[in-house]
Amino acid sequence: MEYLAAKKIIDECENAAKKEFEKLSEIAFDNQKRVLEAFRNNKISAMHFHGTTGYGYDDVGRDTLAKVFADVFGCESGIVSPLIANGTHALSLALFGLLKRGDELISIAGKPYDTLDEVINGENIGSLRDLGVTYSQADMTKEGDFDWEKIKILLQSQPKVVFIQRSKGYLWRDALSVEKIGQVIAFIRQLSPFSYIIVDNCYGEFTQNKEPSHVGADVIIGSLIKNPGGGLAPTGAYICGKKECIDLIARRFTAPSLGLEVGSYLPGYLPFFQGLFLAPSTVKNALMGNVLAGYVFDRLGFETMPKAGSMPYDIIKSIRFETDKQLISFVQLVQKLSPVDSYVTPEPWDMPGYTHPVVMAAGTFIQGASLELSADGTVREPYVAYFQGGLTYEHCKLALLEIITKLG
Ligand SMILES: *Cc1c(COP(=O)(O)O)cnc(C)c1O
Repeated sequence: MEYLAAKKIIDECENAAKKEFEKLSEIAFDNQKRVLEAFRNNKISAMHFHGTTGYGYDDVGRDTLAKVFADVFGCESGIVSPLIANGTHALSLALFGLLKRGDELISIAGKPYDTLDEVINGENIGSLRDLGVTYSQADMTKEGDFDWEKIKILLQSQPKVVFIQRSKGYLWRDALSVEKIGQVIAFIRQLSPFSYIIVDNCYGEFTQNKEPSHVGADVIIGSLIKNPGGGLAPTGAYICGKKECIDLIARRFTAPSLGLEVGSYLPGYLPFFQGLFLAPSTVKNALMGNVLAGYVFDRLGFETMPKAGSMPYDIIKSIRFETDKQLISFVQLVQKLSPVDSYVTPEPWDMPGYTHPVVMAAGTFIQGASLELSADGTVREPYVAYFQGGLTYEHCKLALLEIITKLG
């Protein structure tokens, strides 16, 4: 399509998105307020930005960063660390911290994220199954609701841990709103009051003005190279929640006798604090891009999740293509429109932890950071691309303009 025709489409789409943009701006305002309050209450100053070496005893930056995160998320306690390799590592720590031999884990929003398959069910690799933890799941219904009946049956055995994934991940469903998570938590509490309820919060942080921990989740877990890192955190993950749970998980994170007393990081914590401070606004930019993408792909005739005109509850826009070729070329186009490595062409590969080849556009400053504009898809039917992030709304708009020109 000609540039001028494409520009006209994007302007029309932007106009159509005004209402959603206004709501997103209100959400960002509420979140910025909560983040600022946490910084003020914890009296953040330059001394918190310095790193330590060796054992990291009395690492005040590390400890205070965790307190700020816990406050922002309305939690009693937290672990926030560049020493946690990624989101999967954090989720795995939480599961192994809370579950013992003979315990039961259930997942109630369908299959957890692909990288947890082996953590839960792998054979002879030190998985939860190898440990002797049993697992069952309730899938979401076709209409995108919880399967309340099935959940009720699963709760009869009073499972130790109930797992909820907030984001859509690699499933064709909408992300769960915090309200909906609150409803299901109330339901679980009635039927199995002693279960630990943990939420995979990846991609969900700051998309609404509350987090699952504000509506009763015991533990929430996420990656710092996604939403709460604000695009600046170079690595790491967080686990926040009730003190009782965080203490158990902390002993798995380091060692049973050590907990959160150790762990140093010489480069210091500046980008983690600054990233968290920017996160409400960065997430808003990404969400504005997400909303605009919904209208754009709708105009181009592709099915998306969530649909054009609905509020996003995570930073991912799923787009359904008809062939593997379309999927791969879309991802390659996103790479081409990135600030870093715009000249390389991504190809599908067997990524560790994934069962099918994955193709990924990640022309990002922080390797693999998906709060930065990126796209990926698992090369299997149905050929769905996951389009996410955007540090600035203008970058999202520029990329979409180019995509209309090429695909329109
Ligand atoms: C990204 C993600 C994970 C795992 O994160 P990694 O940092 O890639 O290991 C888990 N769950 C969801 C929903 C995610 O989006």
